[in-house]
Amino acid sequence: MDFLKVKTMQFPRDVIAGHGVLHVIPELISRDLKRGRVAIVSGKNTFELAGREVVKYLTDADFETEVVKIGEVTEENVTACEEQLKNKKISIVIGIGGGSKIDAAKIIAYRMKVPMVSVPTTASHDGIASPRASIRGPGVVLSQTASMPLAIVADTSIMIKAPYRYLASGAGDVISNITAILDWKLANRLNGEEFSSSAAALAEYASRELIEKAYLVAAGVEESVWLVTKQILASGTAMAIASSSRPASGSEHLFAHALELYGAGNAMHGEQCAIGSVASMYLHGGDWQQLANTYSKIKLSIHVSDYGISDQVAIKSLMKAHSIRPERLTILGNTDLSYSAAEKALELTGIIG
Ligand SMILES: [Zn+2]
Repeated sequence: MDFLKVKTMQFPRDVIAGHGVLHVIPELISRDLKRGRVAIVSGKNTFELAGREVVKYLTDADFETEVVKIGEVTEENVTACEEQLKNKKISIVIGIGGGSKIDAAKIIAYRMKVPMVSVPTTASHDGIASPRASIRGPGVVLSQTASMPLAIVADTSIMIKAPYRYLASGAGDVISNITAILDWKLANRLNGEEFSSSAAALAEYASRELIEKAYLVAAGVEESVWLVTKQILASGTAMAIASSSRPASGSEHLFAHALELYGAGNAMHGEQCAIGSVASMYLHGGDWQQLANTYSKIKLSIHVSDYGISDQVAIKSLMKAHSIRPERLTILGNTDLSYSAAEKALELTGIIG
């Protein structure tokens, strides 16, 4: 038989992470940018935090900039930003902010067919280094394809200023890779779904690094930001190798998406995934206690009541999570979990009750 396999992988070209690195941006983009303007997509607060400094460096280096500030990342607001940038001869988009502003920048760059640079101001989830973006639709958060960042510039001296909870949430997003991998292996065994051992190994390594070094993830320590950011970048690379979010998104992410649908209270994405990973590890028959201990070490609560989520919503989310993305087979199967099974999984692990 002829060999006809083709695969495309997209990686960021430059990854610069560490203390006080924003000044590298003009030099970084001057390699690609021969003409045209630089669009800065940011939020009101994050512009003050990092955007203004980036604009200054760019202006000093004779770049013309166009700044847009986006509020909530909805389809409507993203389209409004696109309108604002239209006919401005934009040749690159720099996204500056937490996860959602970066997502907006990724979508805008993808639609405008220009490269994108990711400048995260928090390490709150793994989207800062992946080609997927979440956008708020009517009642749901939808994940869509967007641009893989051309470069990632992560300044730990800025990221440390975000509340610690963001960092713990980012760590939770990475640690939860561990159940995503179990789900991926399961789908490979049951459905013959394509599986990449190298992508899985890297995503699992990122998770295990944070499980082992959980005692180092603490508030007010810049090195913690460095540790988590490094593993977020490893997760992003795993997704790039797989050309899929599979290495970092399984049943725990389906549970997180279901929570978003039924009422996630004030839980952040990484917190939702962390909770989901404990339930999912229990369902896999694995060491959920180790995960629960790790989250406790990094001070990430897995009790839904701490986020204003009712037990009933948590149970319903676990029962229905499989239906969020039916083509993605996980331990949740392809029919609703029974009420009693969902209740038991959440109760035994201390997520509810
Ligand atoms: Zn995630």
